[in-house]
Amino acid sequence: MDTMQAEQGNNGGTSPRQSSCIVNGPIIVGAGPSGLAVAATLRRHSVPFTILERSDGIADLWTNRTYGRLRLHLPKVFCELPHVRFPPEFPIYPSKREFLRYLHSYTAHFSISPLFGRSVTRARFDEATSLWRVTAVSSADGGEVTEYVSKWLVVASGENAEVVVPRVKGRERFAGEVLHSSEYKSGERFKGKRVLVVGCGNSGMEMCLDLCEHGAIPFMSVRSGVHVLPREMLGSSTFGIAMKLLRWLPVKLVDRFLLLVAKLILGDTEKYGLKRPKLGPLEIKEVTGKSPVLDVGAWSLIKSGNIKVVAEVESLGCNGARFVDGNEMAFDALIFATGYRSNVPSWLQDDGFFTEDGKPKARCPSNWRGPNGLYCVGFSGRGLLGAGADAVRAAADIAGSWQEEMVAAGAGAGAATISPV
Ligand SMILES: Cc1cc2nc3c(=O)[nH]c(=O)nc-3n(C[C@H](O)[C@H](O)[C@H](O)COP(=O)(O)OP(=O)(O)OC[C@H]3O[C@@H](n4cnc5c(N)ncnc54)[C@H](O)[C@@H]3O)c2cc1C
Repeated sequence: MDTMQAEQGNNGGTSPRQSSCIVNGPIIVGAGPSGLAVAATLRRHSVPFTILERSDGIADLWTNRTYGRLRLHLPKVFCELPHVRFPPEFPIYPSKREFLRYLHSYTAHFSISPLFGRSVTRARFDEATSLWRVTAVSSADGGEVTEYVSKWLVVASGENAEVVVPRVKGRERFAGEVLHSSEYKSGERFKGKRVLVVGCGNSGMEMCLDLCEHGAIPFMSVRSGVHVLPREMLGSSTFGIAMKLLRWLPVKLVDRFLLLVAKLILGDTEKYGLKRPKLGPLEIKEVTGKSPVLDVGAWSLIKSGNIKVVAEVESLGCNGARFVDGNEMAFDALIFATGYRSNVPSWLQDDGFFTEDGKPKARCPSNWRGPNGLYCVGFSGRGLLGAGADAVRAAADIAGSWQEEMVAAGAGAGAATISPV
């Protein structure tokens, strides 16, 4: 860690210990792929950094909050972090295990050592000193509170920091098991059980497939429209084809093409209860951030009736659910595949750079840099590809500013020191 201890306090042993330290280089919040990508690029610019991560390891989302059968949804060429390629022996769609292996070796390669168990609870820009003051609570040491101080703050806490669970009338009455997709690991323990999956995004569809494969009876509750696309079309990845076409054609035309081919391959999804939204799959992603589902096998099970599509849940009762179309069904378990949200508004005081939803207000591509040395990486809604691009830009910008500081301080870039506040 590149920090300088500035002060320490302990008020009689009753409250958590408090201390403050000045960080050499930027503070990065989050050791997921985005935080690691910024750190790696800063390392290449010889700029020191400090990563604060609330969990006890890197890539908490991928390590602890995803199901076992997960593979990258997009081909590996679109998911590489800056400077290091996936090993050539990896399949086109690496498994979660392979992706984690890649992230661990990436971390080791760039000698990145995050401070684990540090939950950032507050960050504010101090006008008087022109420095960011970032408060983190340690999960060890009796909850020690530390204030980290730096000229630069990189927000890399992710678009998926907290789970979203909608309020459903009567939930407390439901006697079966209720969980969020982040807690789902495998369908094994649901064998023979009737499971209601609420949500029809990539996770909802894939969990239904997994439940089916483990002998459970899945029902998928669908509230609004969804675009289901084959993961591959015409022998190439659908995502890759879309990216290529977008270089030449407007988004609406590419959408028309994708929907035409999807209809030829999958048939009419509306016939099976999956209405297509009015906007096309790429346009709706651009406007609302909602990703299309890239089918990995659930669609054929929907067509065969092994996964049953049901309406939006109106309320829950002791044994099951009532749906908005008036139907009632019994279930043994309920899984919310209702997504995640950013937690930035809960800790960052930033004068309106982020929206109430915790996403940068500025649209791509300028949403990676905020005022006063604030950066955000991994909030462009473009997955790992977008995170990598943000990371390279943010790190280069910080490096430029760092060099200026060093020149002003009369020191060489590699042997930097920062004065106490
Ligand atoms: C099931 C699933 C599958 C996906 N598949 C793909 C895919 O195939 N391709 C793709 O490009 N994208 C995919 N994504 C999107 C995914 O968000 C990115 O792949 C990637 O994880 C984003 O990296 P990140 O570092 O921005 O965020 P995260 O991976 O969420 O990492 C953020 C880190 O910040 C930490 N953190 C959060 N708040 C705080 C705090 N207050 N203090 C300290 N630390 C904090 C978290 O613990 C976490 O470690 C998928 C997402 C999900 C949920």
